[in-house]
Amino acid sequence: MQDNPMPAVHGRSCYHPCEDVCNRVDVDRTVSIHAVERYLGDQALKEGWPVPIPPVDMSGKRVLVIGGGPSGLSAAYHLRRAGHDVTIHDAGPMAGGMMHFGIPKYRLPRDVLDAEIDRIRDMGVEIVLNHKVEDVVAELEAGGFDAGFLAIGAHLSRRVDIPARDAGRMYDAISFLRDVEDGEEPKIGRRVAIYGGGNTAMDAARTAKRLGADEALIIYRRDREHMPAHDFEAVEALDEGVEMHWLRTIRQIDESMFKVEVMELDEAGYPQPTGRFEQLEVDTLIMALGQDVDTDFLQTVPGLEFKKDGTVLVGPDMMTGYPGLFAGGDMVPSERTITVAVGHGKKASRYIDAYLKGTSYIPAPKHEIATSELLNLWYDTDAAQREQAHIPVSQRQTTFDEVIGGLDEESARYEAQRCLSCGNCFECDACLGCCPDDAVIKLGVGKRYRFDYDLCTGCRICAEQCPCAAIEMVAEPNA
Ligand SMILES: Cc1cc2nc3c(=O)[nH]c(=O)nc-3n(C[C@H](O)[C@H](O)[C@H](O)COP(=O)(O)OP(=O)(O)OC[C@H]3O[C@@H](n4cnc5c(N)ncnc54)[C@H](O)[C@@H]3O)c2cc1C
Repeated sequence: MQDNPMPAVHGRSCYHPCEDVCNRVDVDRTVSIHAVERYLGDQALKEGWPVPIPPVDMSGKRVLVIGGGPSGLSAAYHLRRAGHDVTIHDAGPMAGGMMHFGIPKYRLPRDVLDAEIDRIRDMGVEIVLNHKVEDVVAELEAGGFDAGFLAIGAHLSRRVDIPARDAGRMYDAISFLRDVEDGEEPKIGRRVAIYGGGNTAMDAARTAKRLGADEALIIYRRDREHMPAHDFEAVEALDEGVEMHWLRTIRQIDESMFKVEVMELDEAGYPQPTGRFEQLEVDTLIMALGQDVDTDFLQTVPGLEFKKDGTVLVGPDMMTGYPGLFAGGDMVPSERTITVAVGHGKKASRYIDAYLKGTSYIPAPKHEIATSELLNLWYDTDAAQREQAHIPVSQRQTTFDEVIGGLDEESARYEAQRCLSCGNCFECDACLGCCPDDAVIKLGVGKRYRFDYDLCTGCRICAEQCPCAAIEMVAEPNA
């Protein structure tokens, strides 16, 4: 939690790109990093692990965070830990942003989400709900804030113009998921088509199934290989009975009859029309074609610059063109995930803290990546990955119960122990045992080693024997 205020949320909803680059994949399978994170996050909630915080008025500076989604919450958490007085203004009836109104409960149970938000609130962050900011500069001035962080997300659903003689029932995916979250079961009928191939389309289709649709059909203009959704989301959707109509574009709607054109991909992977058509009959169409940022109210902020797609431009320090106003999350040009949003909140908080103190924030240099080729796994690592259990498909199709189960303590410890500790010494004593010159001195458990450079001959045996590439050979100064 030095870095991430919401491990229980991330252990469930992060797409865990860290696991794609985990060196353990070259041995057997990745360490289940997200499952261990989830276990620890749940344990922290269960046992009420506190976050150490300084007094709320320690710095005497006040920061306004606009938007209480993951990015705003993360910025608030880190700024509060830095001793600033932080207030969040959010337009919605509860904090969490898309974690609340986008990601369905079956992937992120609300008691877990609420508990992690409450922990941030309990640290002294004031969260003002149902407060839509219309004039950013006026709010900053009226509240006597010394800096601001904008994190309003991207909530405007994109539309396409489909010629329609008499359009039937239509939703955009965000409103549909939001209505379901609000408990208003939307009337969708027996056959539901979802237009789009991203994660939101998968969530809308899986939600439609849970609301009782006999058929939930995803219509997407490219193929599975080129869809933006993660493959595991498509697998889970298919398991639950969602049907995929790849390489299809809706050309015309006549009440419940859809004229759909079959597409084929050109060499560059772009869908091209074929002139072959099919008819589909559906009761409801849900559009899941992506979201844009609502920038109307930001046009009056002096100095703010926008990209063509409506996202707000920020510098490497996350500051917008308006001095003291920073921005992050979905509203700035970047990948749109909770993880990136939370990362932006942390990064911005470091720069805001420096801005408030009149100093500069210089990030610590990153160490070199310990890739697989640098490891020397001389010990036995035969330990298959522990998988997380899924609840039965019948339960998944009819309830919003959490689909994926967590690890128990024994499995979480086991998974953590599968970590090869790449780049980080774990005191295996290989360097100590192999040094021919007694130049390696053990400092005691947890303290690692000291290298006596008067005795060291630079033979490199220690670096070659180190299983986790934690020893780097560097030339002696002036040698
Ligand atoms: C259906 C769906 C499923 C997703 N699933 C995942 C997933 O599994 N994993 C993942 O990593 N990402 C997922 N994402 C993406 C992820 O939710 C977003 O990238 C992330 O929530 C962005 O965070 P944010 O803080 O920038 O914005 P948001 O989460 O959108 O929060 C913005 C907040 O700002 C508030 N706000 C807006 N305008 C104003 C205003 N004028 N004044 C005050 N407050 C305002 C809103 O009420 C909201 O609370 C999903 C997105 C969707 C739509």
